[in-house]
Amino acid sequence: MDAFVAALPAEAPPLVRIDALTRTEIPPISDTSFVIHESDAAGSAFALVPPDICVCDDCLAETRDPANRRHDYPFTNCTNCGPRYSIILDVPYDRPLTTMAGFAMCENCRREYENPDDRRFHAQPNACPVCGPRLILVEPGQPALSQQTSRAILERIADILRAGGIVAWKGLGGYQLACDARQPSAVEELRQRKRRSEKPFAIMVADADVAESLCFVSEQERAALLSRERPIVLLRRRPAPQAGAGLAEAVSPGNPATGVMLPCTPMHDLLFRILRERWGHDAALVMTSGNISEEPIVIDNAEAERQLGGIADAFAHHNRPIHTRVDDSVVRVVSGETMLLRRARGYAPQPVWLGRGEAEVLACGGQQKNTLCLTRAGYALPSQHLGDLENFETLRFFEETLERMARLFHVQPTMVAHDLHPSYLSTQFALKMEGVRRVGVQHHHAHIASCMAEHRLEGRVIGVAWDGTGFGTDGTIWGGEFLSAEYLGFDRYARLRPVLLAGGDAGVREPWRVARSYLLDTYGEIPHDARWNDMASPEPLRIVDALLQRRVNTIPTSSAGRLFDAVASLIGVRHSVSFEGQAAMMLEATAEVSSPLTQDPYNFKLAGAAPADIDLRPMIRQIVEDLDRGETQAHIGARFHCTLVAVIVEVCQRMRTELELNRVCLSGGCFQNALLLAGCLEELREAGFEVFAQREVPANDGGISLGQAAVACEVLRSGG
Ligand SMILES: [Zn+2]
Ligand SMILES: [Zn+2]
Repeated sequence: MDAFVAALPAEAPPLVRIDALTRTEIPPISDTSFVIHESDAAGSAFALVPPDICVCDDCLAETRDPANRRHDYPFTNCTNCGPRYSIILDVPYDRPLTTMAGFAMCENCRREYENPDDRRFHAQPNACPVCGPRLILVEPGQPALSQQTSRAILERIADILRAGGIVAWKGLGGYQLACDARQPSAVEELRQRKRRSEKPFAIMVADADVAESLCFVSEQERAALLSRERPIVLLRRRPAPQAGAGLAEAVSPGNPATGVMLPCTPMHDLLFRILRERWGHDAALVMTSGNISEEPIVIDNAEAERQLGGIADAFAHHNRPIHTRVDDSVVRVVSGETMLLRRARGYAPQPVWLGRGEAEVLACGGQQKNTLCLTRAGYALPSQHLGDLENFETLRFFEETLERMARLFHVQPTMVAHDLHPSYLSTQFALKMEGVRRVGVQHHHAHIASCMAEHRLEGRVIGVAWDGTGFGTDGTIWGGEFLSAEYLGFDRYARLRPVLLAGGDAGVREPWRVARSYLLDTYGEIPHDARWNDMASPEPLRIVDALLQRRVNTIPTSSAGRLFDAVASLIGVRHSVSFEGQAAMMLEATAEVSSPLTQDPYNFKLAGAAPADIDLRPMIRQIVEDLDRGETQAHIGARFHCTLVAVIVEVCQRMRTELELNRVCLSGGCFQNALLLAGCLEELREAGFEVFAQREVPANDGGISLGQAAVACEVLRSGG
């Protein structure tokens, strides 16, 4: 028995995750053999549901072996790998309750499935070319040739890609759209057809070495690329050695980083082998979610042809249905740690172990990058990335995910947590629910609670919550916040000195508007200096200046995201954007050229109390002086980042002195910025703080639901 207990964690199969190991002595029950019983289908049993896992090395080797019966078979999997969450209809996780139910195992597969010594013992999606799913090629206008081999179909796909075509195929958690990432015209065509103007595309390459030939790859980044979750990893591109050798500029316009992922199924691996054979070199393919604009990723064959018909020249379907849509995940390595930017395939629905509490709550998340979160038995169960709750399709995806997760995990929420923003669809959804208690959680409080929950922190912390937009308790837009926070509440200790944002949403799309506002705040009037005239055309400039001066159709904001926008526009990096965060991303990329950031920070002042204002007007003046001196954008951008780090360290030190707190939680979308995050981690630690950043869930609004859930659990626990 001792040997068994020792072997359990030491020799566990690759996918086992042990949260806790306890021993209880029971009287002997006179069993004479070791038996693994059938799953107990009892209705209320709580079982965790495994995520989809990339193909393992053993399966890959089989599909590459011409002598193996699974040679070139795209749906090869085993107990250690393959689809899970995306194909599970219900628990217990057994084949009849997956989308593999319709495939009867052949004799060979059944023998593997029933043999405890086989790698495929109880591998629910077990399949082979004889009995399993198969690829279906559809080229609009041509008859479907379903009897072709997988290899023949993917060879045809390779030729279409070579000719600059766009292909849609059914991946693990949904359709992906692909084209040759080295052909500018193909990438531009995909952008146009997908109506996606500048948001970066991810690419897929055959292996880590190919990734390294295109991008700089650190040891941790390599590990992230090869991890069994197979996420998209943000990497910095290498300058192309010769024209045409590198990725097309349209892959990630104006951005030195590119998201890279490696094949996650035998199908992707087979395709890249074929591409290498037929093209004579290693391919790089754009690999982007199969959807229109920001709608949920498409999963169904007919739906794909309907929705992506105007985008793809050919479809590689297959006949294993996807039950649950799970988009590709995105990670970034900062200061040696892998942090999630989008948590979906490979991670969801893995729980976050809260380590306490039995409460069953639902947290509805925010508006952008929405996720929801359920809790049960001490676990938080964040959903996969659902998207921006701005259209009907995403709201339906939210409702469908809630219904399915509640059934899979047997959760009946007694309390629902939501954002304070009255017009978020997630808030409205929560307010319409009947028979539950409700708790509104302020946006930035939720960010900090999310970070606390992830690190299982108790008590009170210094919370630095910096992001683009969050509804404040005073009805204004917050986003540059220093909170003294615990799960049950917070005090707003300091904020960025608010400026006026003119014209609501337009203020987010047009950074120059907030740049004008910072100029007005700094100089008391908007300087009639010719250099500020090219931010926008004369008419909008005149209108916005008038709005700001008369304080009409404006709202005060302490948003750090808008501060990034303002500086990006002031120094001419970007005046208008096609997605939120684009200007900040470009400013970071500009500043990165001057890293390490050793420049002197600009000046700033701290004034007032509860909340204190962080006055950055001295910085704005100095930025203008730097511009006058002809300093580069890279130099100014780097000094700006240094200033933000200095602001954060100084305010944290003041809070430590006054409030006797030494733990700092960093959260909010701004902490996806590697320069800002790495700078804060280093300097805060140097100053003796214990610093916590988000890793398991995103620092952006994708992490909001976990924080809301943690707050709701604490409200219930404290009997409040
Ligand atoms: Zn395997
Ligand atoms: Zn078979």
